[in-house]
Amino acid sequence: MDNSIKLSLAHMGGREQYWIDQAFKTGWIVPLGPNVDEFERLLGEYLGTPGRVVALSAGTAALHLGLVMLGVEPGDEVVCQSFTFSASANPVRYLGANPVFVGSESDTWNMDPAALDSCIADRIEKTGRKPKAIIPVHLYGMPAKMNEICAVADKWGIPVLEDAAEALGSELCGRKCGTFGRYAALSFNGNKIITTSGGGALVCPDAEAAARVKFYATQARENRPYYYHEVIGYNYRLSNVCAGIGIGQMEVLDEHLARRREIHAMYGSLLSGLSWLKVMDNPSADFDSNFWLSTITLDKACGHTPDELRLALGEQDIESRLLWRPMHMQPVFADAPYYSTGGVEERLFDSGLCIPSGSGLSDGQIERVARAIAAFGR
Ligand SMILES: *Cc1c(COP(=O)(O)O)cnc(C)c1O
Repeated sequence: MDNSIKLSLAHMGGREQYWIDQAFKTGWIVPLGPNVDEFERLLGEYLGTPGRVVALSAGTAALHLGLVMLGVEPGDEVVCQSFTFSASANPVRYLGANPVFVGSESDTWNMDPAALDSCIADRIEKTGRKPKAIIPVHLYGMPAKMNEICAVADKWGIPVLEDAAEALGSELCGRKCGTFGRYAALSFNGNKIITTSGGGALVCPDAEAAARVKFYATQARENRPYYYHEVIGYNYRLSNVCAGIGIGQMEVLDEHLARRREIHAMYGSLLSGLSWLKVMDNPSADFDSNFWLSTITLDKACGHTPDELRLALGEQDIESRLLWRPMHMQPVFADAPYYSTGGVEERLFDSGLCIPSGSGLSDGQIERVARAIAAFGR
């Protein structure tokens, strides 16, 4: 028997296969069709953004097209969160533009609004031009301080492209992540809250923008009897087969969200007696993370690194993962400007660990993880 406990595996609800079969029965084995339409409708209904969601082949594609829609061009600057997965920043480079990184605040671990403000002022002073867009991230599902970030963005007149890849179902002040930015990207990769095996979506400001995103995502073909192109297009639509998985996943989304939050609460109580670690939690009642991944930080005084804990858990077939290594510390972005908040994300990288959080994990498995962590500290 496989005794291993993984970080976050795809978790099927049961009806996904039915919708895949529908795609086969109706012959829609293409990157458009009834499953794609229905998946988009369900996402729009869930987020309260009807007619404004476009299903795409990946969250990375959604971020890329979001930047295209915001008019990002070669030589432009885009402000990104340093503490994130590289997919937040890579699309900036796809367009020949340059990322500028901002450090995190310690409440949510996301983009610091004050540092964002001084970053923008400094970029304008140094380059004479405003950054074209701002990409905040809701890391591990924890909402960024979007009210403050959007206020700074509005003050400077710069649009926000929200990276909500990890935050489907998370809320800030009762408002869903994915509805704060002018555009927002979602991901349905295999390890996310819901999956289409691989896929993503872009939430758009209106139906007209959504139609334009679909146009870009299907090779930017103009409405003529022959193939005619005025702009560069992409092949980024979601497969109708994969969208069938997405429809099945939407039926169990609420259940899966409840389970992620329950797992986080279990860790909170099972690990509460350990003075050498802290389970990351919502900083106030305004924040309602989906806890896509539960994370812990180790006290420096405990004398152990998170990688030592990762290896110890690995010996018991328990998968864990170090927190994201900040983008300003990545060789590929070594020349990008960086606006520090005093090393918050560097300290998090040095002290933190993601622990198994998949909605398919049993209470017994979570207890086994907690026991293994407690034994490590002894
Ligand atoms: C997963 C992820 C992405 C990219 O999504 P894909 O669907 O894998 O392309 C972007 N940003 C963040 C923060 C992510 O976690």
